[in-house]
Amino acid sequence: MQSWIDSANRADGPFPVQNLPYGIFSRDPALQEPVCGVAIGDMILDLAVLEQAGLMDMGNGPVFDLPFLNGFMELGPEAWTGLRQYLTEILRKGGDDALSGNPELQKAALFPLADATMFMPFLVAEFTDFYASKHHATHVGTLFRGAENALPPNWLHMPIGYNGRASSVVVSGSDIHRPMGQIKPDDAETPHFGPAQRVDFELELGAVIGVATEMGQPVSTAQADKMIFGYVLLNDWSARDIQAWEYQPLGPFQAKAFGTSISPWVVPKAALERLRCKAVAPDKPLLPYLSEQKPGLYDITLEASIQPENATRATTICRTNYNRMYYSSAQQLAHHASSGCPMNCGDLLGSGTISGPETSEYGSLLEKSEAGQKPFILDTGETRTFIEDYDRITLTGWAQGDGYRIGFGECTGRIIPPLPEPDWKN
Ligand code: MN
Repeated sequence: MQSWIDSANRADGPFPVQNLPYGIFSRDPALQEPVCGVAIGDMILDLAVLEQAGLMDMGNGPVFDLPFLNGFMELGPEAWTGLRQYLTEILRKGGDDALSGNPELQKAALFPLADATMFMPFLVAEFTDFYASKHHATHVGTLFRGAENALPPNWLHMPIGYNGRASSVVVSGSDIHRPMGQIKPDDAETPHFGPAQRVDFELELGAVIGVATEMGQPVSTAQADKMIFGYVLLNDWSARDIQAWEYQPLGPFQAKAFGTSISPWVVPKAALERLRCKAVAPDKPLLPYLSEQKPGLYDITLEASIQPENATRATTICRTNYNRMYYSSAQQLAHHASSGCPMNCGDLLGSGTISGPETSEYGSLLEKSEAGQKPFILDTGETRTFIEDYDRITLTGWAQGDGYRIGFGECTGRIIPPLPEPDWKN
């Protein structure tokens, strides 16, 4: 299937007509409130314009002339499918000519992607992050507890997670201040307070939840899968020195609370349907509430790169695949709701760091530098163990279809110095 918009037909382009990811954009943030759009080739299709033109009536009033996707997301899977079918029809070559045959409407509704300012795609209700790659958990566990005790005893029975902060989830392009916190070096008797020295990234995929559940109501993995609207790239920035001192016994807190970056485009789950793949068979049988009939993972190539402030190019530091995961997002969501915890439209579930078995597949610097013991060399000749000020970390991802790519765009951000400390006595 091809689009009449030529730029959408490049075999290696991220946004063909088979993708149609949703985002929030503005033509000029000083003049226009951001609205909902769909990426197609080099253009953004302004959904608010189509809605105003009366081409798409989603029922109860406008849902696209809004600076977030939640209004559309909460309409549910039937509305998602209906709109996707309609957009495919008006954007494919040989389909409905409501847009292709109307130059005036095209002029109003299509805007160059390169000239747009992108915003947070949805209001994040709550953010939960998991620890669901066995390769990552094994590497990290081995570094901290030795190979014998690498995986905690519960790991093969449930997707382990923690409740993160929605307040610090930001869109790609936002700078993140190096966090301050309590740090206790191994050879120190007592902790000190200061800027984290071991700031890291985590390469993750974020599942965006569209359908809410009732408090008290568990869901099956099949129901959970239907509740997922789409996926974004997610960088769960982490301060390893703060984490090492604070994490026992309740898990990460300030080490992860200072920032999480997501890509601006939400790739619809529907665009990935044909690229589903099975997780490896579990090492131990899972309890029935976590069993999955449908293959729960996707074949998505994921990359991370680092670019120091004055470097002319970025160095790729990780290339892995989402099919390396042990637990799927549907299993994570079913586990999250299993106690009766209500899930809301706009909940964001981080997959957990995605790592593969090879050293080139390590989705964090904690793994790559072996907890800081083994510096690695960038293409520029510089060395790194963790992230330095003004280093840029960029995540990219794409799923290869038959002659097209479902691209995620990118999720990028820099670590910048901390803000000045307050006067602690006043
Ligand atoms: Mn994480």
